[in-house]
Amino acid sequence: MRRIYLDNNATTPVLPEVFEAMRPCFGEHFGNASSIHQNGQEARVAVETAREGVAGLLGCHSSEIVFTSGGTEADNLAVAGLTSAGDHVITSRIEHHAVLHSCRHIEETGCEVTYLPVDNRGLVDLDDLRRALRPNTKLISIMTANNETGVLQPVEEIGKLAAEAGVKFHTDAVQATAKVVINVDRIGCHALSISGHKMNAPQGVGALYVRKGTRLRPLFYGGGHERFLRAGTENVPGIVGLGKAAQLARESLARGDDKRLAALRDRLEQGILSRIDDTGVNGQGAPRTPNTANIHFDHIEGEALVIALDLKGLAVSGGAACSSGATEPSHVLAAMGLRPDRARASIRFSLGKQTTQDDIDFALALVAENVARLREMSPVYRVPTLR
Ligand code: PLP
Repeated sequence: MRRIYLDNNATTPVLPEVFEAMRPCFGEHFGNASSIHQNGQEARVAVETAREGVAGLLGCHSSEIVFTSGGTEADNLAVAGLTSAGDHVITSRIEHHAVLHSCRHIEETGCEVTYLPVDNRGLVDLDDLRRALRPNTKLISIMTANNETGVLQPVEEIGKLAAEAGVKFHTDAVQATAKVVINVDRIGCHALSISGHKMNAPQGVGALYVRKGTRLRPLFYGGGHERFLRAGTENVPGIVGLGKAAQLARESLARGDDKRLAALRDRLEQGILSRIDDTGVNGQGAPRTPNTANIHFDHIEGEALVIALDLKGLAVSGGAACSSGATEPSHVLAAMGLRPDRARASIRFSLGKQTTQDDIDFALALVAENVARLREMSPVYRVPTLR
């Protein structure tokens, strides 16, 4: 059966070039990057080359990159490492749990956190942010792109505001990196998180950009790896994969591949909105990453649609999170003011480098057919002509 993968915000396939770059790290170049002998030095060179690749993508110096085990660790490192008891932190209600739960943790250790609301497009209001500043505000942590909707926050304006207020700014750019051009100086951030598996590198590797001169407390204690900011033997294959993926992403953005994705995403959205009644794009009207479409299909359970589509060969995600056995509407869609039933009727389609126009047309046909079937079975849905 044909399978189409439109869940690239969950994870992406490793590109063949990335896999090839990693392969020697499992064989002839297996060394520990901290060893002084030749095997170690080969691994060190590979790690430092990868660091340059990542720095090139973010527009920073390679010495400002700290490799981590992924986006979650990078977010935890930024939030916990840039704050101390008594500090005030400003974040938003739509952050990934890697940031939200890090914020909950620092609240338990004596920090105060303000969770900014968003409007119905999913955007933070800069006036709200300005008003939330306090004399003891130490950190603003607001994501660049949301994982569920793709909505892009005005991070450059937030960076300016943070600089004027003398506050550190961290941004979770896990879902923005490799999809839109990221430049840490233009954003004006002190820290920025990325994750390998969201950009065609393997799972289990990521990085935190840390602006030169920024004091950061590590999460782990051990050896002096990553300039004492992240103890633990480096994941050389993962880091090499991330470096290669960063180099490829930079080339791809320079070629304008993001425009190809945006055109496919628009084809999908327009196709759904024109063919299927009672649908709408969540985050419509806000700037968004080119690969993400979050759409509500009223009168159905999103989870039922996700399962039905999966059985027919299409992988997508729902707008609900399963916590302790109950299906909770997504905190992101709830913060945007979507009714719980509409949030539960939402589906995230996230395109990737491998997505073709044919995939989109196949997905469109499947979605139209399965939404119609689920609505027919629904006791609450009435066929429009009968209304
Ligand atoms: N931040 C955002 C916005 C994400 O979408 C994710 C993953 O879904 C993470 C952080 C966590 O990244 P990782 O899976 O590498 O830990």
